[in-house]
Parts: sequence; structure tokens; C-alpha cells
Amino acid sequence: MSEILKTEAVVLRKVSQGDSSSIVSIFTPDYGKFSIIAKGVKSLKSKLNSRLEPFNHIEVVFYRRSSRDVQMIKSADIIEVHGGIVEDIDRYMFASAVLELFLKLLPDNERHEILFKGILRILKLFNKSEENPKVLFVKFFLFFINEIGYGFQLDKCQISGHKLSESGKVYYSYNEGFLCDECGRDHLTNFNFSAELFNLLICLSSKNKSMVCSSEDLNFLIIFLQKHVMFHVDNFGGLNSLKVFE
Ligand SMILES: [Zn+2]
Repeated sequence: MSEILKTEAVVLRKVSQGDSSSIVSIFTPDYGKFSIIAKGVKSLKSKLNSRLEPFNHIEVVFYRRSSRDVQMIKSADIIEVHGGIVEDIDRYMFASAVLELFLKLLPDNERHEILFKGILRILKLFNKSEENPKVLFVKFFLFFINEIGYGFQLDKCQISGHKLSESGKVYYSYNEGFLCDECGRDHLTNFNFSAELFNLLICLSSKNKSMVCSSEDLNFLIIFLQKHVMFHVDNFGGLNSLKVFE
């Protein structure tokens, strides 16, 4: 038996299925991420199809059967369309990268209310805020990996426990994490952080609102964060939306 449920959701992806249907990946506060099929939505008369575009915040009614991988949609209504995202190439690219984080790194059917609040907030910011989309993305990426358990210890060296310097070099190794100058010189490390760059990482990890950062430093952090996740998560090959950085 299937039950009928109603929930809020953010649309992560929509792909065609046959001539007339779509399979839509959604993220919800109560049931986590899962796929639903919308049948017959590609006819000209279907309003449902346009409500199921990526970035949309919707309310969806669906039939759920736990034995099934793909649930069946009954209806959907718009709560908010984030139309500002698709009007700007940078906003679109970084907002797409956010959706990709959810698609690639979150397991299906796992409830995660903080991440649901987080995705609504970041989509609103991409939609309307004047803040640089690249800065918004790096801040969100740091928040996201922290929530899924791959965050960093930024206060102390992972070998000696010494406080990490705000004025000297800091090292990072995939196996250990961040190391002080002394330990970094004795171990195999993968990245060197100048004091400036390390302070930027701390700044972007905190709720601190405004900061000055160069585009090159942000590009470095975007590559660094992807490599960090690639080391810890099998099958994660990086974010396709951001391939331009490589
Ligand atoms: Zn140390």
C-alpha cells in the first residue's frame, strides 16, 4: 500500500523519462532527498511540468511506498521561484554547484532539517543578494561539508595540538587535516596555506559577513575543497558545474 503525503521541497534536478514523463530529484525537510516521477507532464497543457524546474521551492503531494525507489507525484504548487538565478551566468553556475552537492553527497531518504534550511537560505541569497556568488558558494560548501561530517578542525594542529598560527604557514594533509608549521615540515603534506589564505578559510567558515578576498584565492579554495571531499568520499569526482576552474 502507498500513503499520500504532503511536504515542502526544493527541486534539485529534472530529467525526461520517455516521451511524456519526468523524473525529478527533490530535497525535503521531512523525508530527505528522493526521486519522484511525474507522468504525462510534458503535454502542452501541463502546468505541473513548469513547477518542477530546478531551484524551485515547492509544496508537493505524492504517493509513497517505502519499497519503491521512485515515488509518484500527485500534484505540486509553487512556494517560491528563484528566477534571479537563471538570469546571471555566475549565479546559475554556483547555484547549480550547490544542487550538485546535494545530489552527489547526500544519501537518499535521510532527513536533514539544517541542510533544508541551508539550501533555502542559499537559494534566496543567489536569487536576490548583491554578494559575490563565488563567495556565497565557498561559504556554503564549508557549511555543507561540516554538516555531512567532513568539516575541518581549524583551531589546532592535528598532530601536536598546538594552536594554528594566524601569522605563519599552515599545512594540510589529506590523512591528518591541518598541521602547524613545525609538524608540516616533518610530514608528507598535500597543500601549503599562507597565513593570509588560512585566515580567509577561517573567515569564510565563520558567520562573518563581509570580507575582502581575491578571486584567485577563492578559486584555490574551491579546488581544495573538492579534492578534500574526493579523498574522503568514494565515487565523488568533483562538481561538473564548476569544471571551468580546472
Ligand atoms: Zn603541530
